[in-house]
Amino acid sequence: MSVEDGFKDLYGYAPEGVWAAPGRVNLIGEYTDFNDGFVMPLALPHTAVAAVSRRTDGQVRVHSADTGQGVVQLGVDTLEPLADTGWAAYPAGVVWALRAAGHPVTGADIHLASTVPTGAGLSSSAALEVVTALALNDLYGLGLTAPELAVLAQRAENAFVGVPCGVMDQMASACCTEGHALYLDTRDLAVRQVPFDLAAEGLTLLVVDTRVKHALGDGAYAERRAGCEAGARALGVRTLREVEYVQLSDALRRLGDETVRSYVRHVVSDNHRVQRTIALLDAGDVRAVGPVLSEGHASLRDDLAVSCPELDLVVAAATAAGALGARMTGGGFGGSAIVLAEAADADTVTKAVGEAFAAAGYTAPRVFPAVPSAGARRVA
Ligand code: ADP
Ligand code: MG
Repeated sequence: MSVEDGFKDLYGYAPEGVWAAPGRVNLIGEYTDFNDGFVMPLALPHTAVAAVSRRTDGQVRVHSADTGQGVVQLGVDTLEPLADTGWAAYPAGVVWALRAAGHPVTGADIHLASTVPTGAGLSSSAALEVVTALALNDLYGLGLTAPELAVLAQRAENAFVGVPCGVMDQMASACCTEGHALYLDTRDLAVRQVPFDLAAEGLTLLVVDTRVKHALGDGAYAERRAGCEAGARALGVRTLREVEYVQLSDALRRLGDETVRSYVRHVVSDNHRVQRTIALLDAGDVRAVGPVLSEGHASLRDDLAVSCPELDLVVAAATAAGALGARMTGGGFGGSAIVLAEAADADTVTKAVGEAFAAAGYTAPRVFPAVPSAGARRVA
């Protein structure tokens, strides 16, 4: 059933419109966004689609076709950050963030369905937030830009849901364009759309969902964040973004704490890997991005310690089968990896990863190509 028909069945009238917002994979630049650093995500063809209407009575009703739960109804005046509202906290948090910023949102009926795998490191949460934000922006004529909506969506996730994520996921979902990767400077949200037509190069970027559910809510993410902040303080900079790559060995010498040192090494070197990737793409040397991805994985695995055996196995099996490079993408501890490979090798690589998982006794991974797709938009 279409999301529009689902809305009619549920609420008994036709929605005012339908919006879509995608999930994403991040090509390079991981755990850099909360350090004011660089990232380079691309939007997936998988989207959260929401049918939405305004309400004037201060009520918000939300429903997801994917949860098997009933309609959740909340009053806009009584929305409480960190109240345990389950999945509804994502769209409700956006209503809360918009109202907290002074926007006159007086209620909504929302019915949504998503093809973004949840908890797979592909930002199903940002897709929910951004689709809600864009729909309300359009319906209420708020006139907010895509980056402004992304920042509000991030605030919803940080303050209302209670997940201390950076701004990459929401910016990717809101601002990506078809056929491009989004080069994003998270310090000032400057963006550049970088042409990323792998098919024309005879290449493919595979997403391998390990089916291991990541749980960013646990303390590991916050611990990395705190470690990076401690590193910045010890170095006398506002954020680790201020540390240039050429200053890295000096900076490391000045840090006493071994854990903080390895976090700093990851962040500064991954920012540099984003710069190297941009330079390679600008020069048309796309194949050379492969080893940069693999270096990034080693850094996330060894310095930041956010990988897991399944992600490491994807990278090892894919590269052994001839892939140009691979790395975990997103927060880690499960979720997904990306693999850059010759298009002609896609089947071989996919098979090799599947066999390695079977041999290790892991659940079969889900593999699909990352086709750079459009960001959030109105669809009806
Ligand atoms: P990720 O963003 O990597 O997929 P998160 O843990 O950040 O993982 O977000 C996943 C959560 O987002 C789910 O547990 C659920 O609460 C919510 N969510 C995502 N997609 C949907 C959906 N289609 N319907 C209801 N809730 C969803
Ligand atoms: Mg998320």
